[in-house]
Amino acid sequence: MKAPRWIAHVDMDCFFVAVERLFDKKLMGVPVVVGGEGARSVVTAASYEARKFGVHSAMPMMQARRLCKSLIVVPPRFERYREASRAVFEVLREFSPVVEPVSVDEAYLDLTGCEGLFGDWESTAKSMKSKVFERSGLVCSVGMSTNRMVSKIASDLRKPDALVIVESGSESHFMADLPLAKIPGVGKKTTRLLEGAGFRICRDLARLDATEARMRLSPLVGSASRELWQRSRGEDNRPVGQREMAKSIGVEHTFSRDITSTSEVRRILVDICEEVASEVRRKGREGQTVTLKVRLPPFRTYTRARRLKVGTQYAEQFREVVWELMQEFLDEPVRLLGVSLKLVDPDEKKESVAPPVQLDLFSEVTHSVNLDFVKLELGVDSATVRDSGRFTVQALKKRQAVERLKDELRERFGKSSVVRQRDLK
Ligand SMILES: [Mg+2]
Repeated sequence: MKAPRWIAHVDMDCFFVAVERLFDKKLMGVPVVVGGEGARSVVTAASYEARKFGVHSAMPMMQARRLCKSLIVVPPRFERYREASRAVFEVLREFSPVVEPVSVDEAYLDLTGCEGLFGDWESTAKSMKSKVFERSGLVCSVGMSTNRMVSKIASDLRKPDALVIVESGSESHFMADLPLAKIPGVGKKTTRLLEGAGFRICRDLARLDATEARMRLSPLVGSASRELWQRSRGEDNRPVGQREMAKSIGVEHTFSRDITSTSEVRRILVDICEEVASEVRRKGREGQTVTLKVRLPPFRTYTRARRLKVGTQYAEQFREVVWELMQEFLDEPVRLLGVSLKLVDPDEKKESVAPPVQLDLFSEVTHSVNLDFVKLELGVDSATVRDSGRFTVQALKKRQAVERLKDELRERFGKSSVVRQRDLK
């Protein structure tokens, strides 16, 4: 049998807010959120004090203000978050060469074989937390176990400032009493299905044998049944690996019918721009070259690109450009629309000569979850899975409902899993 692995999940506590507090002590201990001030802006990050009022990220700012009268709103300063993130990842890389960033403030480390270097798991976790604090002034939560999922759930369990270690062999015990919704990928819909069949906590699934699990779960979650069963037992073999930094963020929709109305085309493009912008913001990046992709039936595909004067994270700053690029296609029915933003390389931006050395700093989100979960949550019929990394949601009928589900999924999978494409060609 292979020796057990040693995987850490590190997650900064309330990252954006914590960084802002380094610059302004008055923000300590009070309800504060990071986010825009505009009528349509949303909460990007909320302090624990704000969360007590029911404020959470992705909530419209107006609603957040209504919930908490004393709320302090700080505009996002991504340059600061990038710097802080850089400092944190520098520390993490001193502990292991295998650091997989999930976002600017979250990473997996594979520490297998490092036992001799920093002592046992607990002392390693402690020195990781204190080094991160020393060099960045920021507090993180750490979960350690033999696999990704258990470590992630562990780091999340007692936030903030958590240190939760799940020893090898006690994974299923650790999971047993947790609700099934703790398993990444199991959202509201799946939870409801499982509850309907009498499965509420992990133990309810874990006690089944493999055959039983397949027979009872397949009708509910299809081919995700085996994975779901394994996760409920605290099993997860997915490796930790380094990821490339995202070069662009794009969203495209293929329609099941031709779109002929100009106003509908415009509405769809505006929505797509919003989606792209929100993902760019979430990654703490900026995009400068915007590309429109159009497919006219049956298969004539065109792309048009334009470089913006400055990098941006806001749809308002590039959607009119997209609309201008769209003008030449407006006479014809449309089968596919896509928009992507080529991201500004954060290192290049600082010093154009030096090659980017920290390629994995703002990587694509990892979501090696079973996409059947995603399909299930989104409504199986409407999603076309292209491959594990990209898929396009077609024919969004109940758009509102779907958006809400997607937000939820983004929360769970690290957001960009839902609709994204690394590069629109
Ligand atoms: Mg975090």
